[in-house]
Amino acid sequence: MRHISEYKKVAPSHFFYLSLMEILDGKLLSKNIKEELKHEVNVLVSEGKRAPHLAAILVGNDGASETYVNHKVKMCNDVGFGSTLLRLDDNISEEFLLEQVERLNKDDEIDGFIVQLPLPAHINARKVTLAIEPKKDVDGFHPVNMGRMLLGHPAYLPATPYGIMQLLRAYEVDTSGKDCVIVGRSNIVGKPMSVLMARNHKYGNCTVTLCHSKTNDLELKLKNADIIIAALGKPEFINADMVKDNAIIIDVGITRIPDESRKSGYRLAGDVNYADVAEKCSYITPVPGGVGPMTVISLMKNTMKAYKKQVYKS
Ligand code: NDP
Repeated sequence: MRHISEYKKVAPSHFFYLSLMEILDGKLLSKNIKEELKHEVNVLVSEGKRAPHLAAILVGNDGASETYVNHKVKMCNDVGFGSTLLRLDDNISEEFLLEQVERLNKDDEIDGFIVQLPLPAHINARKVTLAIEPKKDVDGFHPVNMGRMLLGHPAYLPATPYGIMQLLRAYEVDTSGKDCVIVGRSNIVGKPMSVLMARNHKYGNCTVTLCHSKTNDLELKLKNADIIIAALGKPEFINADMVKDNAIIIDVGITRIPDESRKSGYRLAGDVNYADVAEKCSYITPVPGGVGPMTVISLMKNTMKAYKKQVYKS
């Protein structure tokens, strides 16, 4: 891991008078990790070994899922991993999908694989996740990996929480003893984040409050938080009035907002009103360029771990 000074980023000019605020730059950190992985792959290949290989199963034509999977495939190419994309019709049977999972479980050339969620309604996503061999479950969604994470055993951490932990570590953010409020209790972000922030670890040791749509007095809880992790999927939900001075803000949310002034026709918004909140906090992740790039690179790190397990039987 590189030293913190390499990740320091000057705040945008309109915040120049607030010298304490620091941007947690996921784009920069992920770029540096990408270079490290690339180097590692080059060394492996120069020693005559095969490169790590990630496979992805994509069922149907959901636009967002296509985008996410394409990012993952592109990142595999960038770091020098092999990749296999298995595109399946949205009318395939659950049985057929389970057969494909089993095929990947048994393929020694595939180190890890993911089944992109969501799946069509007629397929039981839980059953599919359970069918993935835990040692190839680089998404970290299998109960074995979730359980191992809960117990503090070595495990594949789900990519988004893993990415956030790497950001906190790279910037040496002091989390110990802090009150951390997480908004959103999904299995892929909020719940695992609550475990990681509460664990007995240098980048943990928080007192965690896990909030959701039925939480009472959310604003009061947010206002008292030293650390806020927003993962609810409601664009710009958190504003400056809900945040205390010098809070640490991790914005996981990504929502496409129609914007005709952009070529793409949309802009990406986080769950935090960045312009409003940034000037009050000590650290903040931007959207885009914060948690998003860390998620993809963390999947690559998990794939490298899976490769080492497969090749070195470690
Ligand atoms: P889900 O959509 O699965 O769940 C949302 C959670 O937020 C639920 O727990 C829900 O509560 C809670 N919630 C919704 N509205 C409110 C509210 N008004 N007040 C309090 N809690 C509320 O979440 P995901 O974790 O899948 O995604 C969250 C966001 O993060 C999305 O924008 C998604 O696109 C983004 N995301 C970004 C990633 C990245 O790489 N940056 C990766 C993964 C997700 P309840 O349980 O009661 O329904």
